[in-house]
Amino acid sequence: MLGGDTLNNYKFETKTIHAGYEPNQHFDSLTPPIYQTSTFTFDTLEQGASRFAGLEDGYVYSRLGNPTVTALEKRMAELEGGEVALAFSSGMAAVSAVIIGITKASDHILCSKGLYGCTFGLLDMLKEKYNIGYTFSDLSSKEEMLSNIRENTTCIYIETPVNPTMNVIDLQLIVQVAKEKGIKVVVDNTFSTPYLQQPLKFGCDIVIHSATKFIGGHGDVIGGVAVGDKATLTQVKKTTQKDIGGVISPFDAWLLLRGIKTLALRMERHSENAEKIVAQLKSHPKVKAIYYPGDNEQPSYEIASRQMKKGGGVVSFEIKGSFQDAVNVVNKLKLIPIAVSLGDAETLIQHPASMTHAVIPEKVRNEMGISNELLRLSVGLEAWEDIWSDIKQALETL
Ligand SMILES: *Cc1c(COP(=O)(O)O)cnc(C)c1O
Repeated sequence: MLGGDTLNNYKFETKTIHAGYEPNQHFDSLTPPIYQTSTFTFDTLEQGASRFAGLEDGYVYSRLGNPTVTALEKRMAELEGGEVALAFSSGMAAVSAVIIGITKASDHILCSKGLYGCTFGLLDMLKEKYNIGYTFSDLSSKEEMLSNIRENTTCIYIETPVNPTMNVIDLQLIVQVAKEKGIKVVVDNTFSTPYLQQPLKFGCDIVIHSATKFIGGHGDVIGGVAVGDKATLTQVKKTTQKDIGGVISPFDAWLLLRGIKTLALRMERHSENAEKIVAQLKSHPKVKAIYYPGDNEQPSYEIASRQMKKGGGVVSFEIKGSFQDAVNVVNKLKLIPIAVSLGDAETLIQHPASMTHAVIPEKVRNEMGISNELLRLSVGLEAWEDIWSDIKQALETL
């Protein structure tokens, strides 16, 4: 039987399939049942009272816990190497529950230059409502970080690789500075997944996922997860998760559990296909620049190779041409759908300047490295030759 200490001896791939679920506790059902119930019944009022008081294990109400969701949380905790995990109804529910849960009014957050758009929106809202300040930092040296850390800085919040520029941030360096200053480090690990990068092993405190992306992997569910130490996440569970209430449904948790079973296989293939596409893009005369953490000609390759197993499935590249040329290339694609998610079996493409990052003024966008000619490709699981011939025919219309 799996579970407890015995699980530690198993490798990642085995854990993706077995961790967090024991068939003999669920009528020997091979796959986790979907506990589609809002509430749970008690034998006696006393039992109900002691479950409410946390004196007895057991479920009470599905916003507070559900067995299908528990299986997902345990599996994700195992995969990221954290004590506990919490599952949420979306990546943003996880991001907001964690940030609000670990900060208070008038705190300050240090962030990576480049964040998911809605995370940026959330920080702006918190600034306006609760005076929680934030500063963007390129986090490239200790001096630069220290100059941006204030008395009231309580959290360093980063994404690595950064969306959509694919810049890689040095986790070891961040943790070193954060530990000196007693500041928590939160990492949005959506682009890498625990198969490629495990920030908790570097000493980061909390990992967040938009499970909508590679964790689910099939483009059929919106979900989020936070993984970290028990003390911090119990606090988040009892406050922002319980009282704001962005919990995942049992069915969505089940879809994620199913998706995770193939995470290792998928990440290998996403990375392999991305490497092939990068090699082709490099030798194409209409391509100006490529941003991919797995490419050894990138400035952040040395950092990437220290903390990531492979480069992952997301590739950004700039074409030689104008804003309109970038739009035209996207419109000429036949196989690759235009869509703003990533991590699915289907290769997806988007144009940040007119979609995900369109609200950011052009000047600021350029400072962030998001030019008008930049395209972001989430390389899927199709045969790479077919992905490439679609991109190639579109580039050749330029
Ligand atoms: C998509 C995404 C999110 C938000 O997740 P949702 O599931 O859409 O709420 C957060 N961070 C990153 C890096 C993402 O790609």
